[in-house]
Amino acid sequence: MTPPAATVVLLYQRTSLPWIFESAERAGVRLVLVPRPDEEPPPEGLPPAVTEVLPLDVERDRAGALEALRRRHEAEPFDGVLTLYDPLVPFAARAAETLGLPGIGYDTALGAQDKRIMRQRLAAAGLNTPRFVSLDGPGALAEAARLRYPVVVKPARGYSSFGVVRADTPDALGPLAAEVSGYCRERLDDAGSLLVEEYLDGPEYAVESLAHRGRVRVLTIGYKGRPEGPYFEESVYRAPAPLPAAVQEAVRREVTAAHAALGITDGPTHTELRLCDGTPYLLEMGARIGGSGVSHHIVRHVTGVDLAAEALRIAAGLAPESFGPGPSGEAEGLARATGAAGNYIVPCGGSGRIAAVRGLDAVRADPRVDHVVQMLFPGDVVRPYPDFTGYPAFVLSHHGSAADGEEFHRALARDIRIDYAPEEAVR
Ligand code: ADP
Repeated sequence: MTPPAATVVLLYQRTSLPWIFESAERAGVRLVLVPRPDEEPPPEGLPPAVTEVLPLDVERDRAGALEALRRRHEAEPFDGVLTLYDPLVPFAARAAETLGLPGIGYDTALGAQDKRIMRQRLAAAGLNTPRFVSLDGPGALAEAARLRYPVVVKPARGYSSFGVVRADTPDALGPLAAEVSGYCRERLDDAGSLLVEEYLDGPEYAVESLAHRGRVRVLTIGYKGRPEGPYFEESVYRAPAPLPAAVQEAVRREVTAAHAALGITDGPTHTELRLCDGTPYLLEMGARIGGSGVSHHIVRHVTGVDLAAEALRIAAGLAPESFGPGPSGEAEGLARATGAAGNYIVPCGGSGRIAAVRGLDAVRADPRVDHVVQMLFPGDVVRPYPDFTGYPAFVLSHHGSAADGEEFHRALARDIRIDYAPEEAVR
């Protein structure tokens, strides 16, 4: 039996999202899984790569969790700490830093999570960012009134579009900000303060990249639809995006420069941006695999790169296998697309108690579909926006071309539907 290449502590990954577990097996990496406190081990057993389960309530007791990891490392050293869960990216970086393991460091991780810090660092590096105001301090609302409207209000440390709302006039901003603050206090452990930024009017793209020792490979650019608000529900993700070569190159340059501006030298990143008249404006860059592993699915089918395996190797201080030889800092081209892939995010299409989720069974049997992740079921309650309950399901697929993927998504929009039980108060 070959000895494991490395052991990595994986924080808060749901086993229902299988990609990183499968990649760990392929890469010969053993996983110490820290499950989410609300997750029971699956009845069918743990993925084979998981050799140990270490329950820790990281969000409630960070110091205690750090101390437990230190003790575990002392008793039996591991090689790295990784998470795909956005709120824990700074904690994972801090743990790695404290234990002398590879990582980008706490300060850099925070800059890739707290949108105030991110915006400041991107703007200081001369990158394209919308004008913004941090709503913390007297006079901030008055300052935000002077931005160009519409604007978008969002929690500085939010995720999954929770609490992200468009405000069309300065008069609407105050009440909306108060409402979003209330939701954040209720539902986000550490939302930070609110950020207001100018609305970027243009189609949205997600970019998946991998960095190693300062070299950045932009792997895929995918289309994310054109949500216009007032609430920003995700809808589709299709890669590669059919963009002219010059625009792809502008995106690649901007994203590569953003890595340098934020100091992200190692590991996977997930970037969201909008194109305004062909110019990329960064919405955010996360120092992690996007969508709890969805980005891995996209990258694997579009480029053949095993993104999650590469992320595990880099987290453990091993060399990634998808980088060609070359000096650090050398410019990398956009990876070549050899296939197409998509994620269709089933829209809630209303609110209330779910009576039925229609059309998903047929989709599961479709050979183009690799995985259906169902998160909401009959009986679950969907609260109305701007509150956020979660998405009903993801449909992950692969295709011969981006056009086939688009056609497939049109059919899903027709065939999948959520039915709600009549008139029940859900608040
Ligand atoms: P989160 O981290 O919660 O996903 P984002 O900043 O990525 O927050 O915002 C979520 C979504 O809201 C984006 O994907 C985008 O569709 C929309 N959005 C956020 N900020 C802006 C903006 N300045 N202009 C236009 N759309 C925005």
